[in-house]
Amino acid sequence: MTTETAALLEPRREVGVLSLGDAALRWKAEHPGGRAIACYPVYAPTEVIHAAGMLPMALLGGGTTVELTHADARFQSFVCSIAKSSLELGFQDLVRGVDGFVFSNICDVARNLSSVWARNFSDTFVEYLHLPQNSTSSESSQYLASELRRLASRFAEAFGAPVTDDALRRSIATWNAVRARIRALYALRIDSPEKLPITEFFVALRAATRTAPEESLLRLDALLDTASRRTERPRDRIRVVIEGAFCEQPPPGLLEILEESGCYVVEDDLFLGWRWFTDDVSTDGDPFERLAVAYLDRGVASSTRHEGRQHRSLGVIEKVRRARADAVVFLLPKFCEPALFDYVLIKQGLEREHVPQLVVEFEEKMWTFERTRNEIETFVESMLFD
Ligand code: SF4
Repeated sequence: MTTETAALLEPRREVGVLSLGDAALRWKAEHPGGRAIACYPVYAPTEVIHAAGMLPMALLGGGTTVELTHADARFQSFVCSIAKSSLELGFQDLVRGVDGFVFSNICDVARNLSSVWARNFSDTFVEYLHLPQNSTSSESSQYLASELRRLASRFAEAFGAPVTDDALRRSIATWNAVRARIRALYALRIDSPEKLPITEFFVALRAATRTAPEESLLRLDALLDTASRRTERPRDRIRVVIEGAFCEQPPPGLLEILEESGCYVVEDDLFLGWRWFTDDVSTDGDPFERLAVAYLDRGVASSTRHEGRQHRSLGVIEKVRRARADAVVFLLPKFCEPALFDYVLIKQGLEREHVPQLVVEFEEKMWTFERTRNEIETFVESMLFD
């Protein structure tokens, strides 16, 4: 890594390694009286939180850093790591500085985590967002707009932080800009993946889920500028799409192994909620309705959103084509029902299109990668020397 890149990444690393609570306290020290709201993956209405003058953050579990001492006893053994380690952050006081939590109905585990959280931390603000399950009904967008308005009114009641239409329009514009930068970085990786390794991009995206959008914009711009000026020579690797890591994030060591074993990751579903919309959200008209319509019509394909209009595999096949990928690597979090159910459907679609695929199951606390390394290396070699 060049000195220039290291210097660029340093502040992001700093944010990335802070506990969620410390990242909130860091922002609040610069914004006296400010509030921070953490959202469980996948989709989070960041604009509504930002328009209330608060800091939206992603509640992404404890990663490799948190030992489960209390949360295990609150869940069945067959529950994904992110739910347990997120709750553990509460027990270990690692979310001190976060003023409220928003969960949504992405799966049964997330649904239950919301009430388990409220029961164990009864003096904390907890809100549950009911996202529409039906994307095709003409009532869905009005329903979601009313849910977003309800969330805004809860912020006003709890924190005295109302959301005006004008503030929400400005927040939509700000987040449009952040998502445009992220899309530009993805386009850069599709074009020249050697310029921006997935491990570096992962750190940048993770930091963006813990910083204000105005700060993220500056950092993403700097990364885009630095990465696009790099002159690394492309290596003999296969181009892959990662699928399945839309909620629980894989350990960074696993991403490193993917690259070291001969893969360029040219598309993925990491941190999906922070880049949910495929295009800008309109700032004309009622901003709550514009957000709701965009959620339904411009949302990325995801296992956590029932999309009745097309087969689940089509979104992944489109990604493979757009990113000119050679294969799909399913990174599936252990016990993640949405990812595992969809895997079957996506696999069938990819087989019909003759797209090679590999399945790797992971947990947050995965320490050894040697078996996985062997599997990926074998897969890559079978493609490179076919
Ligand atoms: S990892 Fe999967 S099962 Fe666990 S909370 Fe997320 S979507 Fe639900």
